[in-house]
Amino acid sequence: MKLIDLPNLSTKRIKALSESGINSILDLLNFFPRRYLDRSTVLSIRDVKGQGEEVTVVGRVKKILQQGYGRKKRLEVIIQDDTASLKGVWFKGGHYIKKQFSEGQMVAFFGTAKKYGRYISIAHPEVNKIGDQSDIADFSRIVPIYPGNKALSKTHTTSKLIHRWQKIVLKHEKPPEFLPDTVRKDYDLPLRHKAYRMIHLPESDSEYKKAFQRFKFEELFLFELSVAKTKNSIIEKHQGPLFEDLGNYTQRFFNQHLPFELTDGQKSSLSDIKKDVRSGKQMNRLIQGDVGSGKTIVAIGAVLMALDNGFQAAFMAPTEILAEQHYHTLSTFLEPLDINIRLLVGNQKNSLRTDILTDIAGGNAQVVVGTHAVIQDEVTFNKLGLAVIDEQHRFGVKQRAEILQKGSHPHVLVMSATPIPRSLAMTIYSDLDISVIKGLPGGRKPVKTAVRPQKKHDEIYNFVEQELEDGGQAYVVYPLVEESEKVDLKDATAGYKKLKKRFSGYNVGLLHGQMSSEDKEAVMQQFIANEIQVLVSTTVIEVGVDVPNASIMIVEHAERFGLSQLHQLRGRIGRGQRQSYCVLIHGQKVSKEGRFRLKKMVQTNDGFEIAEADLELRGPGDFLGTKQSGLPEFKVADIIEDQWILEQAKTEAWRLINSDPDLQNNENQELREVFIPYYKEKSRFYGMG
Ligand code: ADP
Ligand code: MG
Repeated sequence: MKLIDLPNLSTKRIKALSESGINSILDLLNFFPRRYLDRSTVLSIRDVKGQGEEVTVVGRVKKILQQGYGRKKRLEVIIQDDTASLKGVWFKGGHYIKKQFSEGQMVAFFGTAKKYGRYISIAHPEVNKIGDQSDIADFSRIVPIYPGNKALSKTHTTSKLIHRWQKIVLKHEKPPEFLPDTVRKDYDLPLRHKAYRMIHLPESDSEYKKAFQRFKFEELFLFELSVAKTKNSIIEKHQGPLFEDLGNYTQRFFNQHLPFELTDGQKSSLSDIKKDVRSGKQMNRLIQGDVGSGKTIVAIGAVLMALDNGFQAAFMAPTEILAEQHYHTLSTFLEPLDINIRLLVGNQKNSLRTDILTDIAGGNAQVVVGTHAVIQDEVTFNKLGLAVIDEQHRFGVKQRAEILQKGSHPHVLVMSATPIPRSLAMTIYSDLDISVIKGLPGGRKPVKTAVRPQKKHDEIYNFVEQELEDGGQAYVVYPLVEESEKVDLKDATAGYKKLKKRFSGYNVGLLHGQMSSEDKEAVMQQFIANEIQVLVSTTVIEVGVDVPNASIMIVEHAERFGLSQLHQLRGRIGRGQRQSYCVLIHGQKVSKEGRFRLKKMVQTNDGFEIAEADLELRGPGDFLGTKQSGLPEFKVADIIEDQWILEQAKTEAWRLINSDPDLQNNENQELREVFIPYYKEKSRFYGMG
């Protein structure tokens, strides 16, 4: 059967359907109800309470009344059964609707019942004329309500009509099953064609619920299958560089030059990495750890493993400030080992750049630190064995895939401080193995957080002054007002002037995105060296910056920031031995959500808890930026609510890919047919395959 075989299908409607994503019979079947009305229980009118509940009643039309005048005109139809009477009311279209009623006729009303004075009424009820018992049976059922849109309503393509079409389609079509039999049975999922029937023509609540489970599973299964297939083919295709020797550099550094004890999380991440790089396969691992958990040292460990085996390592950060900071951190930590580290950033002088590039190509540069310009094509490595990507969430999935495919197929280690709930991480970074660093290095005091109104500025500054006298340092951050750095800058610059006056006994610095990288670098270095005590900044310092002596974070207009961003900012302090303080200053008008965010920040320091709350507020798309993260959009499934289905789908997908990687087996042919176009689409999206 084809779409055009359906009755009442004008060209306009065909267009409206197409605009709603329905171009085939299968598309129509996959057009799922948004919700269901339960008209399955007919109440006696006496039993209707009129407290806003949805009810179905059947009765005879007793009176048809036009009430009121002009714009207030309304239609009232009173119906009566053996027990009592009730009113249907129409505030619009009464003139037209009136025509379908005649006194004495049997009708069913469905809608929300409310009591006004003596009468219970239903505004704009759904009406069905009842001829005999079978009409009642037909009306009193569970009715799917399909999602509407402009195009559909313009062409009067009502939910009712769509439902009629579905009925017809289901009479003629029987979409074949493609889920493996064992999987379907193990998880008690209805057969595909039955599930469509249960979705569109349900006999009970539990039927459509069960059908939804199946379609969620199906959707997540196909997704996980594509992930497993991608991962499988990458691993198959590429042998990773073998780091057999963990000798000189690694041993020396960790035994003699590490200024602190590693935390358990750091140790276990390092041992995961060690296993990966000695496996002969390409490492593709995510280190997930809250801000300040000490991811950098783990990455340094991986770098040293590469160097020990004569390979080069690239160390990439999302911003120049962070790249420069990493360059200094690495230089400091690795100083006693006499390693050649080069910094490659955007606006270096040509002669310097050429020198660096030659150094990299010749293999003299052992470690190259930079922004993601480092993976640009013009940079040729002599023998790249490892690419580290810091703050992964700022890198696209596609960019990461590019590195994996690069020349020597280097190991890839990505680090993320976005504390994504594990199951979500599994989905977004599903081609990655994940190590989690739990907890922070010992001896840290939890940051104390307070929320204050703007009028408290004086008190806050007095407090800052005390802390400065005591040897501390402070950040003062101004928000990104608009997506433009320029507007943003006005606030920060004004703040800078004000603070310079207020803290005249100290050095106040200004940092923003429009400064040249040399200037930014100079200011950062002064702050690190405690030559600047108060650093006024736009959000450029949001990610990764590490100055352990800084103990105060003041965020202006904190209500404008998202939760994860506030957590990142707060993560800039509490990194050393000092007790640190975060002051969130809010303007006069704060939305309800804004208040919730500020409250949450006071309640907890736990990044995962904050991420969960943020995720709930914003939804997964916004939370990570769908485009950047490559977060898949699911039609039926909800990756937060349906986490356990996701887990099951993943297990089954891997089981299948391991036993029949190309879906060649006979029993997988239906699946293959569905999967191949799906996979092609996905591969294009991820830039893989
Ligand atoms: P992040 O995970 O946010 O990138 P960093 O790697 O910047 O954190 O580490 C934060 C600070 O903690 C740095 O100053 C680092 O030197 C220090 N640090 C890291 N690991 C430890 C440890 N095991 N003990 C004490 N301090 C540590
Ligand atoms: Mg970091």
